[in-house]
Amino acid sequence: MLRLSTLALLTLSTPLLAQEINVYSHRQPELIQPLVDAFTAETGIAVNVAFVEKGMVERLEAEGDRSPADLVLTVDIARLLQIAEAGVLQPVQSDLLEANIPAEFRDPGDLWFGLTTRARIIYASKDRVAPGEVTTYEDLADPKWAGRICTRSGLHDYNIALLGAMITHHDEAFATAWAEGLKANLARKPDGGDRDQVKAIAAGECDIALGNTYYMGQMLADPEQQAWAEAVTITFPTFEGAGTHLNISGIAMTKAAPNHDNALKFMEWLAGDTAQKIYAETNFEFPVKAGVAKSDLVASWGEFTADTTPLADIAAARGAALKIMETVDFDG
Ligand code: FE
Repeated sequence: MLRLSTLALLTLSTPLLAQEINVYSHRQPELIQPLVDAFTAETGIAVNVAFVEKGMVERLEAEGDRSPADLVLTVDIARLLQIAEAGVLQPVQSDLLEANIPAEFRDPGDLWFGLTTRARIIYASKDRVAPGEVTTYEDLADPKWAGRICTRSGLHDYNIALLGAMITHHDEAFATAWAEGLKANLARKPDGGDRDQVKAIAAGECDIALGNTYYMGQMLADPEQQAWAEAVTITFPTFEGAGTHLNISGIAMTKAAPNHDNALKFMEWLAGDTAQKIYAETNFEFPVKAGVAKSDLVASWGEFTADTTPLADIAAARGAALKIMETVDFDG
């Protein structure tokens, strides 16, 4: 009898324990945790997140069909395409994903799906830069800004994508001159992340920095970084005659996906109202799903016109952009 009831108990609890999925994330774990917690609370499906900072493609290739990973979460269109092109993903057909994610933010072959967008914008000193003084990305190469600009590495995905967009708007020669001009205007060698550049503005080391939108929200939410954010204004520059540079964060299903059905549930849930709202309110990103509001803070930054360059074109320019950054020795 005792054995039977123990078995019955086990059988009852097993389905809960067995419900889990595995995610390889190139995004910082703390950004993903609020989403994971909410999903698990709602569905009972546990989400194991492994933070894979480097070598995502190599790892998935090496693991092949035996990979424990169901899903890959990452930022940057070129990264998503690189993973897709490595042949380690499977297409996902979902009416819900199609309905919730605008076509320009997902793969026509259903291999990857954008979940949020973010703009690459200008952080400028409240004291030393007049409102509206910087209006275009092209302008950042003007010698009038000599010694006044800070940025993270020119080889970082965010800056490579921006330079890729610059190539698509102009050409490689123009983009090379622009990268050279921008380098000549730097107050210091590229170092640190986007927030470190804002910190440098607050410290008086430079007046203008490139950074992604959500970092403004993250700095304001962090008591240690709030003062950096309060030293700057943010503006949405455009490419001449076009819009503000956007990139995405996104998700894809691995070819192996041992927990396919629950992984699909998580993908769909991330594209739904609850998750899209968490992305907006907690991460200060722009939701991709129409009708999900930006956070009040993000909305207070005002409307902007997004650049309409197809993300695929920006990704296709990645190789050329990398070469330009190396040619001009941007970080040197
Ligand atoms: Fe980031």
